[in-house]
Amino acid sequence: MTEASDVIVVGGGLVGAAVAYGLAREGASVIMLDEGDVALRASRGNFGLVWVQGKGDGMHEYASWTRRSKELYRGFAEDISGCDGTDVELRQEGGLELCLGEDEFRANAEEIRRMQGQPGVGENDRVMLGREEVLKMMPLVGPEVTGASYSPHDGHVNPLYLLRGLHGGAQALGARYVSGAQARKIEKDGEGFSVSTRAGTFRGGKVVIAAGLANKWLAEMVGLAIPVSPNRGHILITERMQPVIPMLLVNARQTADGTINFGNSKEDAGYSTRINPAKLGEIARSIIRCFPILKDARIVRTWSALRVMSPDGFPIYRESEHMPGAFSLSCHSGVTLAAAHALELAPVILRGGFNTRFAAFSPGRFDAAPAA
Ligand SMILES: Cc1cc2nc3c(=O)[nH]c(=O)nc-3n(C[C@H](O)[C@H](O)[C@H](O)COP(=O)(O)OP(=O)(O)OC[C@H]3O[C@@H](n4cnc5c(N)ncnc54)[C@H](O)[C@@H]3O)c2cc1C
Repeated sequence: MTEASDVIVVGGGLVGAAVAYGLAREGASVIMLDEGDVALRASRGNFGLVWVQGKGDGMHEYASWTRRSKELYRGFAEDISGCDGTDVELRQEGGLELCLGEDEFRANAEEIRRMQGQPGVGENDRVMLGREEVLKMMPLVGPEVTGASYSPHDGHVNPLYLLRGLHGGAQALGARYVSGAQARKIEKDGEGFSVSTRAGTFRGGKVVIAAGLANKWLAEMVGLAIPVSPNRGHILITERMQPVIPMLLVNARQTADGTINFGNSKEDAGYSTRINPAKLGEIARSIIRCFPILKDARIVRTWSALRVMSPDGFPIYRESEHMPGAFSLSCHSGVTLAAAHALELAPVILRGGFNTRFAAFSPGRFDAAPAA
């Protein structure tokens, strides 16, 4: 079986689905191929933050890109709801990063100073709040909380509704989604590309590789070296509780039904998604230091998932010079960047000039410096 389209998107996670949605919105015919439930899927195990503060420390283009996505999010969420009926539950009421002890307070304050001093970062609006101010917002914080950094731009969505909305929206706009279609071979085929899978061979004028950690080997087929690696994170969910956390935190939030979701761990564990009990203990002890009232809370669910991490933590976007028309997209903030991926990145894939527009995110930045 062979099917043809303007663009084939390989990967139906948050990055692939956002781009497929954006391409279909532009009127392109799209086929989105996904490996299925056996694959590693950050998109189904993340925390759902649309997070701005601290993003772009060391790369001002990433700070602006994140901020742009945040600005697009409201309209993007409405657009998805209009297409597919899914409410992604966007909340953009600001967020806090609590500091435990003086060292953390100093480190956050220093990060703000450093970022505000970076040319091109632009308006940041992130400020430090002292303990008294935090207490007014969150009366149940523990005695070790010395303050917090606050940004009015931070927010969150329900990440599973976002994924469902992107899939539903793309399909409502005419995209075709094929599950159980692991891309095994990507080849130049006349003016375009062919992608071979067990579910058939698919042809496209262009191909977008957005398969999370699998980009490392898939992108090699179009002449791109994409150095992504796994970084494991754990998330824990408590039973339903009285109101404890009234505002969004970078590592915790309380849902409308009362459960508290928390965890912001980063661990090098290879490709293992096994639960690490020692790490769960570490995360739990840290949240109890922030909110001692949680010491008796029961955990009802926990999981771990793998981030798609680049060596410097910033996205990697590139069109192949060797095979123009083939693109590779990777990032570790696929929720936050979904709006920018759909509404700003996808149109550039269709219109050209990709490597100029996204030069800062080229994998070329990891090339070893030439020997003197
Ligand atoms: C614990 C944790 C918390 C996180 N919290 C946040 C957060 O709060 N905010 C935020 O912005 N980001 C967060 N992230 C990151 C975010 O989840 C990822 O950036 C995003 O999911 C990456 O999406 P992706 O589509 O690139 O990869 P994935 O989600 O891994 O999806 C890749 C897809 O490609 C498919 N695939 C793989 N190989 C093939 C193949 N050969 N052929 C076809 N299909 C293939 C897979 O089936 C999968 O569906 C978090 C991640 C983790 C792990």
